Amino acid sequence: MKDPRTAASVASCLDDEGFINAGPTLQLPALSNVFAGGDICTKARFGGGERMAGYAHGHAFLICENIERLAGTKSGPLQAMHHGIPTGTEGETDNEYVFISLGKTDTLLYAKWPVMKMFFQTPDAMEEKYGPIEEAPDGWVELGDLNPVKFQQWNDMFIGALGEGRDEWWAQFDAPRLYDAP
Ligand SMILES: Cc1cc2nc3c(=O)[nH]c(=O)nc-3n(C[C@H](O)[C@H](O)[C@H](O)COP(=O)(O)OP(=O)(O)OC[C@H]3O[C@@H](n4cnc5c(N)ncnc54)[C@H](O)[C@@H]3O)c2cc1C
Repeated sequence: MKDPRTAASVASCLDDEGFINAGPTLQLPALSNVFAGGDICTKARFGGGERMAGYAHGHAFLICENIERLAGTKSGPLQAMHHGIPTGTEGETDNEYVFISLGKTDTLLYAKWPVMKMFFQTPDAMEEKYGPIEEAPDGWVELGDLNPVKFQQWNDMFIGALGEGRDEWWAQFDAPRLYDAP
């Protein structure tokens, strides 16, 4: 998004890689009434710097929350959101989970986030091999046929939640991640 022809006002909102330098509240640096979410945001807005849909829905939730607070339809300070698993090094996180498709059926599932435990096919074997998911230094890793999860369970779950406008369903994942913006 950034080259020598880019207007200075726009360039000032972009990081060195050309992504939008949205702050923790997802506001643009110079335009506090403009928000950015999803892959277009700078790396720091993603767990482990990995641009994923799994974080984009959190961005959408956060932006809605902050628009309401700016508009005064909700009270309280603007919110920021935790993404990723803290590594112990200041400002650094690991990714929470990744699905990597390998061929027609196999999928590698990596996760450090306890919410993802339900998607492992052999959770007992994982616990024995790596220890509790929240304590395993490199998370749990399982290779298996996850097509029913990817192409049925998740679709039904997301289409149902979006189609029926079940905001509270989304809130169970995203609301606990919010904190008052610094
Ligand atoms: C192979 C692959 C596997 C992935 N696997 C996962 C996964 O397992 N889990 C996960 O969470 N994430 C995964 N991701 C990442 C995920 O797809 C993205 O993080 C997510 O789609 C980002 O959503 P977005 O809405 O920000 O951007 P996009 O989905 O890229 O949407 C941007 C839209 O804007 C449109 N657009 C672009 N320029 C213009 C323009 N000038 N005018 C109008 N429209 C425009 C594009 O056509 C596009 O439709 C994967 C990505 C890839 C490529």
